[in-house]
Amino acid sequence: MNWSHLDNELDAWHAEGRRASLWWRDDDATAPSPALDRLAALAHAHDVTVGLAVIPALVQPGFATWLASVPVEVLQHGWAHRSHAGAGEKKTEFGNERDAEAVTRELGQGFGTLGKLVGHRFQPVLVPPWNRLDPGLIPELAHAGYRGLSMYGPRSSGEPAPGLKQTNCHVDVVDWRGGRGFVGHDRAIAAVVAHLAARRVQLVDPVEPTGILTHHAVHEEATWTFIARFLERTRHHRAIRWLAPGEAILA
Ligand SMILES: [Zn+2]
Repeated sequence: MNWSHLDNELDAWHAEGRRASLWWRDDDATAPSPALDRLAALAHAHDVTVGLAVIPALVQPGFATWLASVPVEVLQHGWAHRSHAGAGEKKTEFGNERDAEAVTRELGQGFGTLGKLVGHRFQPVLVPPWNRLDPGLIPELAHAGYRGLSMYGPRSSGEPAPGLKQTNCHVDVVDWRGGRGFVGHDRAIAAVVAHLAARRVQLVDPVEPTGILTHHAVHEEATWTFIARFLERTRHHRAIRWLAPGEAILA
């Protein structure tokens, strides 16, 4: 697929008098870095607010100062991004391997750390590492102070538990099985178009904003180029509405 396929899909939205909402999440932030500078500059240049999923236990000195200088929102990326899954199982930090008390304690520590780090720019949203979470924990999150949850793939509910909203990401630009390079324009555009088309014909929740997922630390040049082109083509498009993470998840 190429950009004309995206244009065609957006024309279909426009023809129906609708605007497609988009948002941007970037995972695994812990410290200032040239890659994070580049991400923030790109977001700033296009006037888009990126949601940084920060790993609380791994936050490095100086990060609060950096965060205060850039227009981003902060989400909670688990606690230490440490897998507790058994051998041969899919990685997860918050599966059902541990007792609820240990999990609740870690989540609370992370929540407190990020609140102190950035104040009101911390959105009370949990982004579980590897986008995995024991479903049994979901009803507990609102009690722990969270108002939102963000994982991967079309959501099955916009409010999976009372007081808890959910908005996921749908377009991963990193090829995790292919050496962590760029997935390529073809696959990235196909993922955007697939989610937009599925929303338009209501195969998935039509009001779930389409989320672009990036990982600044592993981007190669082609990945950055794609993100820049994507922002250029969509930021002021008549059939698109870019949302800040808080709006996309909690509104
Ligand atoms: Zn992660």
